Amino acid sequence: MLKWLPDETLYSVCSRQHRFWGHSSPLETCEALFGRQIGGVYHDLPSHLGLLAARVQERWGEPGALAMEKTLLKYYAAWKPREVTMAAVATMAAGAVRHLKVRLGLQNSRFRANHPLKACVACIQDDVGQYGWAYWHMEHQYPGVWVCTRHGTLLHESLFKSTGAGRYDWVLPRIDQLTRSIEWPVERPPQAAAGFAALTVDLIRSGASFEVSRFHEVYRQQLDRAGMTSVAGNAPMRELAAAYFDKAQALRLASDLRAFPATLGEAYAHVQYLLQRPRVLVHPLRHVLMISWLFPNAAGFQSAYAAAAEVDANGKCASSRLRSHEMKYVDDAARSQIVAALASGLRPGQIAAQHGVRPSVVEQLLDENGLRLVRRKAKAKQARSNARSRWLSAVDIHGRLGVTRVRMLEPAAYSWLYQNDREWLSRHQPKRPNHRARPGRSLQKERNEGPLTPQPSA
Ligand SMILES: [Zn+2]
Repeated sequence: MLKWLPDETLYSVCSRQHRFWGHSSPLETCEALFGRQIGGVYHDLPSHLGLLAARVQERWGEPGALAMEKTLLKYYAAWKPREVTMAAVATMAAGAVRHLKVRLGLQNSRFRANHPLKACVACIQDDVGQYGWAYWHMEHQYPGVWVCTRHGTLLHESLFKSTGAGRYDWVLPRIDQLTRSIEWPVERPPQAAAGFAALTVDLIRSGASFEVSRFHEVYRQQLDRAGMTSVAGNAPMRELAAAYFDKAQALRLASDLRAFPATLGEAYAHVQYLLQRPRVLVHPLRHVLMISWLFPNAAGFQSAYAAAAEVDANGKCASSRLRSHEMKYVDDAARSQIVAALASGLRPGQIAAQHGVRPSVVEQLLDENGLRLVRRKAKAKQARSNARSRWLSAVDIHGRLGVTRVRMLEPAAYSWLYQNDREWLSRHQPKRPNHRARPGRSLQKERNEGPLTPQPSA
């Protein structure tokens, strides 16, 4: 049996095995791997992993690990309650995945439920050179990821599998069997798409399992931090919707992102919907869009998420009480591993997930070991460069619409620069809007007249 290649999907290793064995029919490989003729051949959420594991467990791992690490369940599990994920694992292990997409909420959403099989041309060339195989990378398959985070280039879509062609075949990426399904420049896809891909990959890579029911609070607190709620704590919905709408536009061209708001009215409904109450049933892509709009990166979101968990119902910080209680359960070996990981620059959220401790424990070790200042300096440098580049790009593209508009488009960058880099910010303001030219006229018109009532279905 072949061994895993880095970041490889289960469908990919099975397809390589098919090629390696030289079977003329895909059914022969199904029979050899799964003991039945069409078992396991789905490229996104395959079935019959129990049968597969019984044959290859020593080499490829047990069914739970296969489902969670080597299939698209890895992406969906980050946003689902544990019981939903465990039920999905059981389904994939046993077979009959027909209703799995419904249970994961994919079929009821307006997003594409048949996942395209995607590949990066530069990765194919590198992989053939390094491993002798072109193969499917897991991180390229995540919904909404259309840019390779290694090469910064546009991902291409396979002509097979999700299109129906070769539905029961084992295929590997081939440059002549890929198509460019979005009209973005291959070498320089839009910054928004690259940012969305990097954010998605970082969030899933952190291994976190999010309690999505708390997200609306995290979003509201972030709007507060960015000075975008009024004294009464209410968000100026029309302004927010306009900014969210602009953020979504660059991404809507991708086939799995077309359910992002197409009009200002829809954007208004989406933002209001996501800020009001816990929304656990919406497609994760909607949350990733909110996060990409409100936070500078995955780490920024994760620390806000962890901080929100520590504020109790009365608004009092309960962290110190919790910390001393939890620290008792962390042994010396684990403590020194966590400290080493912190010194190496890994993110606290990631370290907490890896060691199975609460984020507050990692925070306390940061304090106790004087690592905060070292990390803060490195982080501030990174944050400054991120915020400056996001601000400059927004000024560049939308500067004609005026400073308020640019500020609404990049609330996180503005807030960071205002607090930490105000002198630079004052030197890089957009020029005053030219009222005679009325550049924002059509948008303003739509903002006033757009339908504001529809609710997103999921
Ligand atoms: Zn690549």
